[in-house]
Formats: sequence, structure tokens, C-alpha cells
Amino acid sequence: MIENKIPYKTYLDENEIPTAWYNLRADMKVKPAPLLNPATHKPLSADELTPIFCEELVKQELDNDTAFFPIPQEILDFYKMYRPSPLVRAYCLEKVLDTPAKIYYKFEGNNTSGSHKLNSAIAQAYYAKKQGLKGVTTETGAGQWGTALSMACAYLGLDCKVFMVKVSYEQKPFRREVMRTYGASVTPSPSMETAVGRKILAEHPGTTGSLGCAISEAVEVATQNPGYRYVLGSVLNQVLLHQSIIGLETKAAFDKIGVKPDIIIGCAGGGSNLGGLIAPFMGEKLRGEADYRIIAVEPASCPSFTRGKFAYDFCDTGMICPLAKMYTLGSGFIPSPNHAGGLRFHGMSTTLSQLYHDGYMEARSVEQTSVFEAAELFARSEGILPAPESSHAIRAAMDEALRCRETGEEKNILFGLTGTGYFDLVAYQKFNDGQMTDYIPTDADLAVGFAGLPKVED
Ligand SMILES: *Cc1c(COP(=O)(O)O)cnc(C)c1O
Repeated sequence: MIENKIPYKTYLDENEIPTAWYNLRADMKVKPAPLLNPATHKPLSADELTPIFCEELVKQELDNDTAFFPIPQEILDFYKMYRPSPLVRAYCLEKVLDTPAKIYYKFEGNNTSGSHKLNSAIAQAYYAKKQGLKGVTTETGAGQWGTALSMACAYLGLDCKVFMVKVSYEQKPFRREVMRTYGASVTPSPSMETAVGRKILAEHPGTTGSLGCAISEAVEVATQNPGYRYVLGSVLNQVLLHQSIIGLETKAAFDKIGVKPDIIIGCAGGGSNLGGLIAPFMGEKLRGEADYRIIAVEPASCPSFTRGKFAYDFCDTGMICPLAKMYTLGSGFIPSPNHAGGLRFHGMSTTLSQLYHDGYMEARSVEQTSVFEAAELFARSEGILPAPESSHAIRAAMDEALRCRETGEEKNILFGLTGTGYFDLVAYQKFNDGQMTDYIPTDADLAVGFAGLPKVED
């Protein structure tokens, strides 16, 4: 039984896995701004979204009021293969940093896809299957989402078509082979297979691609092939909903040992792991029951929160997707190919954008060499080889722990260790060879992206 009236409660099954996802929007006084139709600039109705997304997921996307969504048993059965994920006290890292702070991390890399993305991939694939669809299309940047989705589709017997950002396709051939092993087809983006891909290639010959381009291609294929829908691994409300399992488990584990985190830190690409990790804690904060410092960490080379504009923008380069009000660098923004650490989406979850705008969380950006220094120290002390994305959170957690060393404060620091870095060894190689550099876009660079923002009255 799920009681919507008691949204702070975590319901656990006999394996200590939550049996419902928590919808943070239910507790927000100012709701995230609605998605708009890119042609009319009117809020999108469910009818307009169902040609693109699965029906059940559209309902989740648009529901700002229901606090808890029961997790279907089939999804719980899948979760059981790799959940609950461990909440680890980083004793060795604390010792190396010589800090009085206590550092905890929630580790989501204990599955073959190597990241938290599987939590939403299985949910989205399940709803596609339940709707009787043949398959799904998607984009992938660094490759974790495509891998997670191909695993979920293989499990459920769905066709999976992945558009992979060209630079990653070339730099990460092994990711591609994992996806193909799970039965997915993988196309480098931009490609000649879609009208939008051909257009982008004609305008920008030799482009290394971007998530925004790959999204446009995947949406085009989904909407033009009967029995297919598009699925997205981050940014959307539904993805944050599924990822709330991370935070609910964390909260349950902390409650069990009587610990309350003071600072909660997550890396932010599109915002899904951070939104999931903070969900129940932010819920308490919104209801005035507890307070936490919440910090989003992003790359200095793709600084949506810290240098972006809070405005309606396209989620894709081809400008065919809904408009979302978010912190954005503009849909035409393409991060420097020098940037190795993922988190390269130009925008941010509308939910997190609203919360950040309203002062419920902080954001900071970090440079990639300092991120890899943190990754190296973490690997040497805690043993796990972290994903570069996750290492943004490690960097910030270490910085907070070092601050505690200065002040003597015994803070409880929690961060999300979203995944492992075994497929990022080209980036590690660059770092180890001393060839990694930092690239921070100038204001003039960013102005180019901002100039492409659509004019929307809101
Ligand atoms: C995709 C990914 C991220 C960033 O995506 P969010 O939606 O911001 O969570 C972070 N870490 C890893 C390991 C990822 O695969």
C-alpha cells in the first residue's frame, strides 16, 4: 500500500529495495515550467507527446502532484539483480585527506552498464514493452545510457537503436561492442540515415557531433517508424522519478545507522543522478522538516548551471524536440572535443533548474585536470576506478572534506558515485601522460549559444 499522504516515508521490500519512486515535484511550491510545443509555444498535452514517448511515461512526465509511483513488480525483479546498491563510508579516503569529516558515497557502478542509468533504462523499456511496441530509439554520448538501454531491451526482448555521438563512437569502440553484444544497433551521429543528420552534416562538415544532434536523429527515427518510441536517459522528469530509487535507498540506509548527511553532492549532466540522489532529502527541505546543503558539480567546459541562462530552449540541435525551461548554454553549444569527462549536455533538468533558481541548491564548476586528480586519488585510496563524470562529485566532496580539515568541522558528506571508468581509459591515458588540458569557454564562445535561444514569452 502506498500512502501518498506520507511522502517522506520510504517503503522497502524484504530486500530493502524501495517499492515506489518518489516524485519530488509533488512537494515543490513552484513547479517546473511545462514543456512547450516548439511550433506554437503552448504547453504540450499528453496527446502531443504520445507519438514521441510511451504513454505511461508521458503520464509520469506531466504529473506534478502524485508523490509516489508504485514500482511494477517486473521492474523490482530486475532491480533485485543489482540493488540495493552499496552506501559506503570512505574510511581510506578520509584518512588520506586527514579530515575530521565523514565521507559516504552511494555506488551505482555495480552493474555491467557501469552506471545509475540502468535504473531508468529498465523502467522505460518496461513501459515500451507493456504498450506492445517493437522497439525504442535513443542517443548516447559517452555510451553509458546506450549500454544500459541495450541491456534492458535485451532482457525484455525489445529492438534498440542507438545514435552515438561521433566523437565517442570513435574514441570508445568497446562501449559500442558492448551495446552490439546486447543486440542494439549503433550509428555514429550525425549520420546520413536521417534528414536532420544530413542537414547538420551539410552545415557542419566534419563535426564530431553532440548530444543535441543525436537526440534529433533518434526522435526522427522513432516518430517515422510505427511501433517505435524515443527514450531519453536524463533531463526529463520521468528519469528523475526513476532515479529517486538512489536517494530513497540512501535515506533508508542512513536512517538505519542514525546518520544525517550535512552536505549532499552530485555531478550534473542532465541532472538525473543528482535529482535522484537528493529527492527525499530535498523533499524534507521543501517541506521544512530538515535542511541540507546540496551541491551540483559540473564541468567548467560545459557550465549550464553556473554560466547558463534560465530560459526556454530546445533540448536538441535539430530543434524538433519540446522546449524546456532550464539553465542552458543554448542548443547550438558544442563542448570542446578536448573535454573528456562526459556531462556535455547543453541544458539541465527543468526540476533542478527551478530548484536552483529558487535557491534550494548550489552549483559549482570544476576543471577537468582537477577532476582527474581527484579520480586518481580516489582510485588509489578507495580502490574503485571512478567514471570521469562521477569524479566531478568526488572533486567537490574532497574539497569540502579539506575545508573541514581547516575548520575542524565533523560534517557528514554524501556524494553520488554514479559509475565506473573502465571505458574511459583513453581519457585516463591522456591524464597519466600529462597531456590533459583544461578548456574554459570564453564569454564570447557562450554568446554564440545564447544567440540561438528561441524567443518565448513566459
Ligand atoms: C550519464 C552519467 C552521468 C550524468 O548524467 P545525469 O543525468 O546528470 O546523472 C553521471 N555519471 C555517469 C556515470 C553517467 O553515466
